[in-house]
Amino acid sequence: MKDRLVSALKKSAADYTEVRFEINDSNSITFRGQEIDSVSSSKLSGGIVRACTRGGWGMAVFDSLEDLGNGIREAGEGAVLVGREKTELAETAGPATAEVPARLERDFRGVSLDDKIKILSGYNTILLKTDKSIATTQANYSDSFRTVHFASSRGNYFREERPRVILALSAVARDGALVQRAYDAVSSKTTFNVVQGLEALAEETARRAVKLLKAPPCPGGVYPVVLDQEMGGVFAHEAFGHLSESDFLYENPQVRDLMVIGREMGVKELNIVDDGSHPGLLGTQAFDDEGTPTGKTYLIREGKLVGHLHSLETAAKMGEKPTGNARAIGRGVPPIVRMTNTYIEAGKMSFKELLAGVDRGIYARGMMGGQTMMEVFTFSAAYGYRIENGQVGELVRDVVLTGNVFQTLHNIDGFGNDLKILQKGGGCGKGGQSPLPVTDGAPHLRIRDVVIGGK
Ligand SMILES: [Zn+2]
Repeated sequence: MKDRLVSALKKSAADYTEVRFEINDSNSITFRGQEIDSVSSSKLSGGIVRACTRGGWGMAVFDSLEDLGNGIREAGEGAVLVGREKTELAETAGPATAEVPARLERDFRGVSLDDKIKILSGYNTILLKTDKSIATTQANYSDSFRTVHFASSRGNYFREERPRVILALSAVARDGALVQRAYDAVSSKTTFNVVQGLEALAEETARRAVKLLKAPPCPGGVYPVVLDQEMGGVFAHEAFGHLSESDFLYENPQVRDLMVIGREMGVKELNIVDDGSHPGLLGTQAFDDEGTPTGKTYLIREGKLVGHLHSLETAAKMGEKPTGNARAIGRGVPPIVRMTNTYIEAGKMSFKELLAGVDRGIYARGMMGGQTMMEVFTFSAAYGYRIENGQVGELVRDVVLTGNVFQTLHNIDGFGNDLKILQKGGGCGKGGQSPLPVTDGAPHLRIRDVVIGGK
């Protein structure tokens, strides 16, 4: 394959040309309520050529390698039509040749579709049977084995296998007009075993939806809040991480002014990292989709902004180093600047010590959804508890947190010693490419003066 891609690229007259060819073998099963809703298996292959001339990009998507030559010609012609300036792309630190086979403890390709359906059906039955107030359920299983071949006119080539398996469970409980939902998921890029033995998780998920029916709504107000690792992680990713992505940053002068290297972003204990090389996580890969090796990038270190996430182009334009964050969701789409595994580093406090500082507050757990508008975020926790006199108390529902990310980063006054990076199948969406496998994490965090907009 290498020779075929490299020799085809020799015919390109563009300043820079790359080709990525992928084969994706995938399966997906969904149960809704009592019924099996869908089962699909596919093996798809195809690729994309990107060419850059005088700063202009041309692209061509192709299905079969026979069309590679045409693709290179078309992408090159497209680039010539739009190129007006100068091609600025950072040097690639990528390899001349690299082979990165998957390291699977237990390969999901060795398990029959029937057995996968049986496992999922078992969990779905538990969700349905746990309580009579369960109105409906959804259970999803998916696996994907993606083989990526990449070559560029700079002489880089890699082949990387990127497997993943994801299982997600959700239950909806109903009492009259009141509806409550609970959700949980697991994922792995190393073993099928992660989706087995989840009977307790299924029951716990259903029970949580049922319990939320009886829980009072979270009182609105301004409180100290303790975030669990999932909420802290999503906060790091959604509220802050996306602002670090340099394609977005470069095109938004307002954000560029906010995200200046050296700016004080938070308290001294605050460190936020993106690490695409962290072993075994869903957002981990050896190379990004421009052939740059992934690595650990500090975004915030000791409270100060120290890094941005880059592709080759954004790195060159901003005079920084590429970070291995140009990622494409699959064949036929170009890479854009994306996070990988993003987390807030652990501090020193135990969970008990974090709670001890709170007379009256909220412990927010799990993430149900949210949105961000530049630096303003609104997140819904999956559920929460009151904190009274340093103790976790009553379960509450409808926990909605609102704030300004920069102010919130300054208001973190406690970092737990219990960093957890959650592997829940992490589907990041950006530029129409979703769900991209990422993970995020944090230790328990205590934050002062959070606006809670319960009902
Ligand atoms: Zn995202």
